[in-house]
Amino acid sequence: MATRQTPRAINRQIVLRLLRAHQAISRADLARLLGMQRSAAGRIVGDLIAQGLVREGAPGAADRGRKPTLLHLDSGGRCVVAVDVRVTRTFLLLTDLVGRELTPVRSFETDGEPQAFVAHLAAEVHRLLSDHGEKGRCLGVGVAFPGMLDRSGSVVLRAPSLGWRDVRLRDPLAERLGLPVEMENAAKACALALIWGARGDEPPGDLVFVSVSDGVGVGIVMAGEVLRGRNNAAGEFGHLPLSIDGPWCACGALGCWEAYVSNLATLSRYLSVPFPPQRPISPAMARVTVESVIAAARGGDVKAVTALLATGRYFGLGLASIVNALDPARILVGGEITAAWDLIEPAVREGLAERVLVAAAADTEIATVAPEDHPRLRGASALVGASVFAERGLKIG
Ligand SMILES: [Zn+2]
Repeated sequence: MATRQTPRAINRQIVLRLLRAHQAISRADLARLLGMQRSAAGRIVGDLIAQGLVREGAPGAADRGRKPTLLHLDSGGRCVVAVDVRVTRTFLLLTDLVGRELTPVRSFETDGEPQAFVAHLAAEVHRLLSDHGEKGRCLGVGVAFPGMLDRSGSVVLRAPSLGWRDVRLRDPLAERLGLPVEMENAAKACALALIWGARGDEPPGDLVFVSVSDGVGVGIVMAGEVLRGRNNAAGEFGHLPLSIDGPWCACGALGCWEAYVSNLATLSRYLSVPFPPQRPISPAMARVTVESVIAAARGGDVKAVTALLATGRYFGLGLASIVNALDPARILVGGEITAAWDLIEPAVREGLAERVLVAAAADTEIATVAPEDHPRLRGASALVGASVFAERGLKIG
């Protein structure tokens, strides 16, 4: 992004980025990574400490002489409300500015109507904050949303699984809360959090985050930036057709990848009921979860194993389209289904190998993010937290 940045602001940004990746770190090691004189690095660190963005922690180890004081990013006294909106339920918790959980996760049933949803979410955020006033000053609310948003993150252009189109969501929520609200497509938020949370010296590289929940979202990082496209709608691989004669998808088309691999698709396969793209979900389906199907599979339930393996194979076939289109270095998968990865990975790999065009692409690294790490809530938190540490106009990463 071409903005007029003073060298000082750029250095400050680089220091914060290195601290995020290497904390806790001594001033000497930081100066070495920066390729700067210790005194120059020390001045930047001093400014950041004065601004409350960096703090000094416990002394580190030293072979001889005085032990160096280690530096950390400072979250002290400030927190973020992270919100993960899904079609069936909405989850929320408080985190610090670097995405660490400060409270247990709460959830409520997602309202089907936008105005009712805004009122409900605002009440839940208020309740969370008043129950945990001791966690500090709330800097804002980050919302990971299952749909396509405009570039400003204020309007839901389309959320097929919720049936919403052109809904102003961010500003009404911010007005009710009296707090800044940052919204982003859930998979793009996860991709942003991966850039921001990357550890060590290695840049995150070209990677794809696939979020499998009630729907399927894909966040793409290319050359260190989240791919957005002209309408901020890039990455909707969930609606790439796997078969034009397949099941109905929430978007109104037939045979989308999402209609084969979402949690609802897995449940409908397990229960032998048609895939239900529209709300409300049938009571029979509402009683079963992907977690319970995985538990049944581990208990020897053949129907559960078959349903999961089919999901795995369809998942691999769809991943092949992503690999053929983007050829990423790494694919990360988040969602409840990853708890069954040991069962389904061979089927995923088989589907992938069947459709990739370059043999070597079949070995593309696929890693999972455990459901208990709450990748979507981390993504939501990073929408607010990362921007506190980032200079305005300078892209994270
Ligand atoms: Zn679709």
